[in-house]
Formats: sequence, structure tokens, C-alpha cells
Amino acid sequence: MTNGPRAEVVVDLDAIAANTAALRTRVGRPLMAVVKADGYGHGLVPAARAALAGGADALGVAVLEEALALRAAGVTAPVLAWLHAPGTDYAAALAADVEVSVNAGWALAEVVEAARATGRTARVHLCADSGLSREGAPAADWPDLVAAAARAQADGGVDVVGLWSHLAYADAPTHPTIGAQVRAFEEAVALARAAGLTGARRHLANSAATIALPDTWYDVVRPGIAVYGLDPLGGDPADHGLRPAMTVRATAALTKRVPAGAGVSYGHTYSPRTGTTLLLVPVGYADGVPRAAGNRAPVLAAGARRTIAGRVCMDQFVLDVGDADVRAGDEVVLWGPGDRGEPTAQDWADAVDTIHYELVTRVGGRFARRYV
Ligand code: PLP
Repeated sequence: MTNGPRAEVVVDLDAIAANTAALRTRVGRPLMAVVKADGYGHGLVPAARAALAGGADALGVAVLEEALALRAAGVTAPVLAWLHAPGTDYAAALAADVEVSVNAGWALAEVVEAARATGRTARVHLCADSGLSREGAPAADWPDLVAAAARAQADGGVDVVGLWSHLAYADAPTHPTIGAQVRAFEEAVALARAAGLTGARRHLANSAATIALPDTWYDVVRPGIAVYGLDPLGGDPADHGLRPAMTVRATAALTKRVPAGAGVSYGHTYSPRTGTTLLLVPVGYADGVPRAAGNRAPVLAAGARRTIAGRVCMDQFVLDVGDADVRAGDEVVLWGPGDRGEPTAQDWADAVDTIHYELVTRVGGRFARRYV
């Protein structure tokens, strides 16, 4: 019997650094590594440090709290935070030297006010909606926004350092919306430049675009998932020189023999056809293992891939390992890089009909995290 941790997420920081370096080399221009959502479940600060060690020039996060947590940990690299609600503490952002995205006149006014109150210059990225219909300013509002930003810049409280947008279909590189979004983004850039915002760097490319769409690279690329070694296009990350950084493993808590026809887990949605050995795995949906994985997702246990038997419960699930020689204390690997025969996060995504982004960002709960 081994005494491994009951449940742990093992994060390979060298893989994050190497993935960043591979992406940086691929594009040959500055790279902003996206570390929002706790570094896509890999740990905000360790992931950020690893990406910087791999050559990232800047870090991207969604919300200000994430940027401030990086600063509190002593990370000094440029950080952009791009999702803000009215009343955001821009003064705190400026005091921490955090760059902020602006997508509306009222938001710009809040940033200008914070700059005035603190006597600091706000480093601002203006976000244009080029067709995602999400965080950017719509085309109808863009001329007023860039004019107001140019005035604020002339007044000295604001430095517009970025112009950016986000793609809807980067993971489908031949999709016709990509060309339309590129054209819309370039029109937005041209309007901003005509308004006098000539010093701003352009950024549009997420991971899929960083891998597959060189026309979208502009001045800076902004990959997230690929930094963690997962292929946004659903293929083999090794094809792009990437290695998954996350392994999710648990220690079997119990084994038992049950007869043919035993009902396994809630609702008895699984029954072995012959007498068999069951292995209890002490992680469940409260830890981020999707409930939808029951009877669908594969794990590596006792030397083979096995599908979860019956429903995933809040804290545990069950495996049918047949007549394999198993005992409590044996290792069970949910997903990892795939080179030890374990499933990958992509295998899980396929099995439970989601995307690996959701799996890696949700795994947590009572998993311990270990960095290697
Ligand atoms: N840029 C923005 C605005 C995002 O919201 C995200 C993530 O969703 C990214 C970049 C990174 O995307 P990806 O993880 O697909 O590279």
C-alpha cells in the first residue's frame, strides 16, 4: 500500500516555460501569456513565473483582483487586466502599475478620474468589438471612444498603449468570420491612429490564432491554453511543440469484490456482467471532476484505461477493474500529458462533451497542488 496524496494536481512548470518559449519562437514577436482563472487551474503566480521564465513579455488576466494578486506576489512584468465593471478601483490598478482595458466612454472617464486623483498615468488598451459581440466597444461607439482617449492622452493622464480585439472562431482557422474580424479590427486600428493614437500595440491572437493564423499576430500575441500545453484545435499538442503541464491523480481508497449484477453508485447506472473488483477513487464533482464523466470518461488504473463505472458523486467515483491485481493506495490518473498511457484532458473533453479549458480551470476543490 502506498501513501501518496489522496488527490493531487501535479503541475510541470518546466512545461509551461518550454511551451511559452516554443510559442514565442514560433511568432518571433512579444507574447502576453494569459494567466487568468488561477493560471487556467495551474496556479496564478507559479504559472506566471514559469511563463516569464520561458520568455513571456507580459501577462494577461481578466479581472483586476488577479492582476493585484500578481503584484502582491512580487511579479513586476507588465500586466493587462481586461474585464471591469463600473466602480472598479482603477486607483488601485494605477498604484500597482496594472494596465487596463477600456471599452466604453464611461469606463474611460473612470480611468481618467483615477489618473487625476492619483497623479499617475493610466496605461490603457482600447478594446474593439470586431465581431465577437462580447467585451469590445461596438463599431458605432468606436470613433467617440478613440476621440475621447486621444483627448485624455493629450491631457496627460492616459497613455493608450494597446488596441485589441478577440476572435470568435480562431479554433476553426478557415472560418469566414476570421477575415471579417481581421478587416473590422484593422478599420478600428486605422480610426484610432487617425485620431492620434499612434503608439499603441495591436493584439488579437489567442492560442489557436497563435498556432494557425499568422495574419492575426500583429504586434503581440495573447495565448492562454497553449501556454499550458493543450491544443486549442483539439489535436495533438506535440504537433505544435507543446506539452501538457497538468497531471490529475488520486490514490485509490478501497477495493472490493462484488458479484455480477451489483448496482454501482447512485442510481445503479452501472452493473458488472460478471463478478469483479471495484476500486474507489476519492475525488468527485465537488473537486471539479464533472458529474457528466460517469460511465463516459477514461482513467488510468491498474495498468489500463478504464471508464468510470456509474455516476460520479460529490466526493468519489468507482472503477471496475475486473480481475486486476489492485489495492487501496494504488495510483489512479485522471488525465495528464498522455505519455504514460493515461488519458489526456482532450480525451476527457471528448468523453464529457466539453472543452479542456473547462476541465483544467475547474479541477480544484480538495485536490492538493504540487509543482514539479
Ligand atoms: N484573450 C482573451 C480576451 C481571452 O478571454 C482569452 C481566453 O479566453 C485569451 C486571450 C486566451 O485564449 P486561449 O486560452 O484560447 O489562448
